[in-house]
Amino acid sequence: MTQLVFATHNKNKSFEINKMLEGQYEVLTLSDIGCTEDIPETGLTLEENALIKARYVYSNYKKNCFADDSGLEIDALDNEPGVFSARYAGDEKNDEANMQKVLSELADKPSRDAQFRTVIALILDGKEFLFEGAIRGTIATEKKGTKGFGYDPVFIPEQQTRTFAEMEPEEKNTISHRALAVKKLTDFLKSK
Ligand code: IMP
Repeated sequence: MTQLVFATHNKNKSFEINKMLEGQYEVLTLSDIGCTEDIPETGLTLEENALIKARYVYSNYKKNCFADDSGLEIDALDNEPGVFSARYAGDEKNDEANMQKVLSELADKPSRDAQFRTVIALILDGKEFLFEGAIRGTIATEKKGTKGFGYDPVFIPEQQTRTFAEMEPEEKNTISHRALAVKKLTDFLKSK
């Protein structure tokens, strides 16, 4: 079966995609190919970071691969925190502090509109492809829910009354930015 490396150390992420591509591609993680380093994410956009990670694997391991990068983009904050979502309140990557910072930055803003966006960069035999998934929504005025991770307790997807953190993972995973980008990637790979 054709092998494809997902430039992540996260087994859960690769397991999901592996299931979607069953029978056609075998998805390997970084640890499966003996890559233990954390690839530096020095880009200034989600696209750059996804490409940096995919190019790193392609040039060092000579394997077809893809990489993802996601972030929360808030309209009234000029799309911040965006590519800096994980480290918005500091390098320690603290979800709680990140959410508090978002809530205080938005306190006097008339619009709370935002989106989560994922970009996936794929490199197949040296050719690069980008896939994007986004979900619009609003930032709640206070945290709600305990499921999920990151900014989930403050993000209410469009046409919903609950935050991502109030939804079961299965429900979030059918509408999320990541799911939409992954679907575009897998549709493309299946059509090859
Ligand atoms: P990653 O590229 O998937 O690691 O996402 C980078 C950062 O964006 C995470 O550390 C979170 O702070 C934020 N983020 C991305 N996706 C989500 C999500 O689905 N829910 C909540 N936060 C997210």
